[in-house]
Amino acid sequence: MKNILEAPFLQDMIEVTSNMYRLGWDERNGGNVSYLLKEEELKEYLDLNNIVRTIPLMGLYDTNFDISPLIGKYFIVTGTGKYFKNVKKDPETNLGIVRIAEDGKHIELLWGYKDGGRTTSEFPAHMMCHMARLKVDPNNRIVIHSHPTNTLAMNYVCPLEDKIFSHTLWQMSTECIVVFPEGVGVLPWMLCGTKEIGEATAKKMQDYRLVIWGLHGVYASGKDMDETFGLIETVEKAATIYNLIGSRKIINTITNDNLKEIANYFKVNYRKEFLD
Ligand SMILES: [Zn+2]
Repeated sequence: MKNILEAPFLQDMIEVTSNMYRLGWDERNGGNVSYLLKEEELKEYLDLNNIVRTIPLMGLYDTNFDISPLIGKYFIVTGTGKYFKNVKKDPETNLGIVRIAEDGKHIELLWGYKDGGRTTSEFPAHMMCHMARLKVDPNNRIVIHSHPTNTLAMNYVCPLEDKIFSHTLWQMSTECIVVFPEGVGVLPWMLCGTKEIGEATAKKMQDYRLVIWGLHGVYASGKDMDETFGLIETVEKAATIYNLIGSRKIINTITNDNLKEIANYFKVNYRKEFLD
């Protein structure tokens, strides 16, 4: 068996959580990451018949949702109550590798959560997002929840509505419409950890790779860590510019014609109704 601490997927988890902590997006136990693993890559590092513990499939409270499309799938996931700050120095306590059990009601721990821990309380929302994204893109493997500072600040002054929020972000930097031509989905404030917010997020994820949780943070998805992290980074950069402008009078802007010109030049399929 190869040393799991050297596995590329584990290194990706360490790098992304460290970066998000360093950027100030994930204070204390804020944020969580899940990464869909391939059996072929995992079996080089772990005996997949060796189940360390079986854990009920639930979030903060017991929730029932249909996870059947993910039965038998493997994920590496940040642990509940764990701090991104600590992942690098102790991955085996702060991360876990799990398989969705045959009954669809449990998860099987194969590695990690060394102190008796379990998956993030947002596990149901993560799984619902994976299911939604896999329908749109079979190569989707990552879901990240984070509290990026400027995106969150923008929530207090920009209407929480898909079109207005997306259009405002697009105008903040020329490359935005190329990076997220579909825009971003926006949810109102909702109670986190619940099945309701998971379902609402998954519904938005049918159309968007990034969903704003009003007055809370973001959920982002993608085929790999670079794409997913880069998406949050780009939205956060645009929100930073928005906040730096603040209430000063805008005398120059990226017009809808400019946005269309960029999108057409880079051949991206942007959401047309957002530029009406
Ligand atoms: Zn959160």
